[in-house]
Amino acid sequence: MVRRRVPCDQCGDQAYHSQEASPQDRTASPQDDAQIFPVPHPTPSYWLSEPHAYANLRSTSCLLRECDVAIIGSGMAGVLTAYHILEKNPDLHVVLLDARALCSGATGRNGGHIKVQAATLAALPTDEERNAMQSFVGQTIRHVKTIVDKEGLTEYCEFELRHSFDVLCDIEAVGKVKSVYEESVKNGAEWTKEVSYLSKKMAERVTCVKGAEGGFSVQAASFWPYKFVAGVLAKLVERYGTDDEGGRRGRLNVQMNTPVTRISTSNPSPSDNNEISHLHTPRGTLSARNVVFATNAWTAGLLPSFTNTIKPRKGMASQYVRASPLPSLTKLTQQLTASYPPTQSTPTYQIPTTSTTPPPQPPTPQEQTTSTPAQTPASSSAAARGFSLPHPPYHSTTQLTSPQT
Ligand SMILES: Cc1cc2nc3c(=O)[nH]c(=O)nc-3n(C[C@H](O)[C@H](O)[C@H](O)COP(=O)(O)OP(=O)(O)OC[C@H]3O[C@@H](n4cnc5c(N)ncnc54)[C@H](O)[C@@H]3O)c2cc1C
Repeated sequence: MVRRRVPCDQCGDQAYHSQEASPQDRTASPQDDAQIFPVPHPTPSYWLSEPHAYANLRSTSCLLRECDVAIIGSGMAGVLTAYHILEKNPDLHVVLLDARALCSGATGRNGGHIKVQAATLAALPTDEERNAMQSFVGQTIRHVKTIVDKEGLTEYCEFELRHSFDVLCDIEAVGKVKSVYEESVKNGAEWTKEVSYLSKKMAERVTCVKGAEGGFSVQAASFWPYKFVAGVLAKLVERYGTDDEGGRRGRLNVQMNTPVTRISTSNPSPSDNNEISHLHTPRGTLSARNVVFATNAWTAGLLPSFTNTIKPRKGMASQYVRASPLPSLTKLTQQLTASYPPTQSTPTYQIPTTSTTPPPQPPTPQEQTTSTPAQTPASSSAAARGFSLPHPPYHSTTQLTSPQT
């Protein structure tokens, strides 16, 4: 493709617009029939119920024609990729696109647990692998915390180090996980130092999940991923956005509600092996030297080679809130993952009504600095003010999984 600076016919900007990709461009993935795209009107999500000011941001009224790096997808992966690229290479021109509003995919729909379930660890074949997996999750927690702290987002995205409960309502599953856990404890395996077992009685009392057969308390971080991503994007726009947005460099251009429908590639010249990718959208074509596909479940829509590797699947996360909220209970007090046997698909909670006794403390693994649900400021202040303390499941996030899925 011969590049030529041309003014944009919509905004007149000549900054880095170039000629449209030529018709001879090699098309990489025109999958007309079975394309997998974010649907235009997705299910409303509790976690998207307070849209950020940048939810529908378009840094420029028209799509730029070229950039150094195009990032497709504005979830956790897309926005953090932009964050790290611009932090290390502040002179690159980065365009961040999304088919819908900011962070409207899985990141804007999950309950924000960073944890690994005891059952996931127990299913790995060796303690070495269990230690490695748990260490990776621990690093992820620390990495997210570092960004949250650095960018001053702790309160906004409700980041908190804590414990999370895996509640198992399937007696067989409890037996399997417990036997691996106990064997590993005997062997002094590192991963068990961050995990505690809860008996049937304890699991039900601590988590209020009716029919709990046992549980595990694991290290976790909890946060509001949409707010984290939106908060990070706001900082990026401040630092690298266009002049109109108060940014100093004009290096980051954000284009929400801009689906990429097809990618084609071309070589700038016969002697040049560096391909240029052309991102086709209903608003024009963006040419990029590098493309990041932060497209999660929809990746195969643009890269058909992933059709059998990445398959979209529905999951569910829920937020439980009292019908008439107590003023002091404005944040999560508990986080758990409940697993049910294949035959039982509907979870049941037993909700304590009048108890003023603080809930029992879960066993605390050695050397932990996380807070347990009963120690959160919200629940202790409610107790201090003489409320009948409605401890969990009020304001709990729950992930439901079944062994079948
Ligand atoms: C219900 C539920 C609960 C979950 N709970 C947890 C949890 O507790 N802990 C955990 O670690 N993980 C959890 N996950 C998984 C986690 O949410 C995802 O792994 C993570 O958010 C993926 O982030 P992402 O940025 O890769 O993708 P996404 O957040 O899905 O972002 C992908 C983006 O790409 C955009 N896009 C796709 N195709 C195109 C295209 N052609 N053109 C333009 N834009 C496009 C989409 O619109 C979307 O905004 C959960 C997932 C679900 C669904």
